[in-house]
Amino acid sequence: MTTALQITDLTKRYPTGTEALKHVSLEIGAGEFFGLLGPNGAGKSTLIHCATGLASPTSGAVRIFGHDAIHDYGAARQKVGLAPQDINLDWFLTAQETLDYHGGYFGMAKQERRERSRELLDAFSLTSKRDERTTTLSGGMKRRLILARALMHRPELLILDEPTAGVDVELRLELWQYVQRINQEGTTVLLTTHYLEEAEQLCSRIAFINGGEIVAQGTSPELAETYAVASLEDAYLELVGRKELSRGSVSEISA
Ligand code: ADP
Repeated sequence: MTTALQITDLTKRYPTGTEALKHVSLEIGAGEFFGLLGPNGAGKSTLIHCATGLASPTSGAVRIFGHDAIHDYGAARQKVGLAPQDINLDWFLTAQETLDYHGGYFGMAKQERRERSRELLDAFSLTSKRDERTTTLSGGMKRRLILARALMHRPELLILDEPTAGVDVELRLELWQYVQRINQEGTTVLLTTHYLEEAEQLCSRIAFINGGEIVAQGTSPELAETYAVASLEDAYLELVGRKELSRGSVSEISA
C-alpha cells in the first residue's frame, strides 16, 4: 500500500523548552481516514504543523507521498490541503478571491482556478456569497470556505484540525458528508477532533496522542480492547486519567 504520511522519530522542542513531540512515529496509508485524538496540549497541532511546514522539527523525518516535508517542501506541500483550527482567512478578499489566490499560490492556471472555485463554492453552498468579503460571512460559512480553500488544489492528503469546533449540528453533518465522499473518491484524510462519536463513525484508524507521544493506535474496537474497556470513549477516558467519568460507572452509581 502507498504511504500518504510517514512520520519517523519526530521530536519538536519549542524555543521555550517545551518538548511538544517526543520521538513520534506514525504511518497513514493512502486512502485512509485517520483520526488523531488527544487532550489539549497533547501535541496534535504541532504534529500537523510539522507535517505542513508551519513548524520545523527538531529531529526526525516527515514524508508525504514519499516527498520529504523539509528538504523537498514544495513537492510535499503540493500534496497536502490543510484546514487549520484557526479561522485564518484574509479579511480583504472575497470568497471567490480566497479560492483563486490559493489556487494561484499552488500554480493552477487561471481557467482551472475559475472552474474549480465555481465547483467548490457550489459544493459548499457559497455561490451567493462569492463576491462578499470574507469578514461578512457567518461563522459556518467561514468554516466551509476554509475547507473549500484546503481542497482547491486537489490535494491527495487532506488535514483537518478540529474543523467542526463551534459549528452547529446541521453544518457539521454536511461537512462530514462531503469529507466522507472525497475520502471515498480516494483522498486520504487526517482528522483531529474532540468529538469521539465522530472519530468512531468516520475514521478507519485512530491514534491517541498524549504528552507528545503516540500511546496507542488501531481501530476503535482495537483501542477499546487495548484499554480493556467497552467503548472508544472509555478508552479515551483511560488515556486522560478520568475513568470515573465513564457513562458506565455513572449509571452504576445511580442504579
Ligand atoms: P494540541 O494541538 O494537542 O492542543 P499543541 O501541539 O498545540 O497541542 O501543543 C503541545 C505543547 O506545545 C503544549 O504544551 C503547548 O503549550 C506547546 N506549544 C505549542 N505551540 C507552541 C509555541 N509556538 N511555542 C511554545 N510552546 C508551544
